[in-house]
Amino acid sequence: MGSVVFSVDAELGWGFHDLADPPIDRVDAGRTGWRRLLSAFETHEVPATWAVVGHLLLAECDGIHAEHLSIDGWFDRERTAWQSRPDLRFGTDLIEAIVEAETAHDIGCHSFSHVLFDDPRVTNAIARAELEAAIDVAQPFGIEYDSFVFPRNAVGHRGLLAETGFSCYRGSGAATESRFGRMANKLLSTVDPGRLELVEPFVDEYGLVNIPPSLFLFGFEGTPRTVLEAVGLDPIVRQARHAIDRAARSDGIFHAWLHPNNLQTERDVRRMQSIIEYAASKRETTGLRIETMAEIADRTQ
Ligand SMILES: [Zn+2]
Ligand SMILES: [Zn+2]
Repeated sequence: MGSVVFSVDAELGWGFHDLADPPIDRVDAGRTGWRRLLSAFETHEVPATWAVVGHLLLAECDGIHAEHLSIDGWFDRERTAWQSRPDLRFGTDLIEAIVEAETAHDIGCHSFSHVLFDDPRVTNAIARAELEAAIDVAQPFGIEYDSFVFPRNAVGHRGLLAETGFSCYRGSGAATESRFGRMANKLLSTVDPGRLELVEPFVDEYGLVNIPPSLFLFGFEGTPRTVLEAVGLDPIVRQARHAIDRAARSDGIFHAWLHPNNLQTERDVRRMQSIIEYAASKRETTGLRIETMAEIADRTQ
């Protein structure tokens, strides 16, 4: 029997603070999206891996972080334009909502300040500082991470994950394919969901379990989505249902991921409710497992 995994990159403003022109609609959707996604998981008692940006666990900060090793100017936006937006920089209320939820979620790590681990400016010392700071701020909440999700899926410094006590991470997926190949595949798998492959976790050279992603649940937006929705089911829901069916009759994993800020409209919320409900119903009728990344690492290592 296979399984379904949901991983959530939970970051509020941190997913965008380094961009010249942050997409403010998405940034502003982060808080409500977080609560609505958590509620959808709760309704169906579906556990997920929530990879949270460590800075969200702070109650306050000076916006300077002189003691934290970082690239020059890394905290500029938090100190300037977002100085008046604590709602984008801190999120203890949201993390407590996950901790206090009825369903046992896996709280994982998404670095301390959303540093890109493949950036040549991000030295080993900076990567280590990001991991150690994220671990420190989680301690008062009783959170000990097993799972790591690389910001923007930029894999790097994996040895440090093993050294600092992580057991698994979400890999980068089909990294070797060309951009064109990935686009073509995305389009074809929407038309023919059978093309979407399930994934297998594996132990890497550092002893960490790599749990590759199967599908980004908001990677097919804009006009193509509207056109396909006009003739029937949401194309991503269709793909996800197909993959969940396959996981229910094989040993593979359907690993779906998203950000809370992807839930910007009612139809985005409906998409998630629909996929989560479908996975929960298959768990009832087929014995399909719905697992967290930490649970998969536990049985793979
Ligand atoms: Zn700060
Ligand atoms: Zn992120």
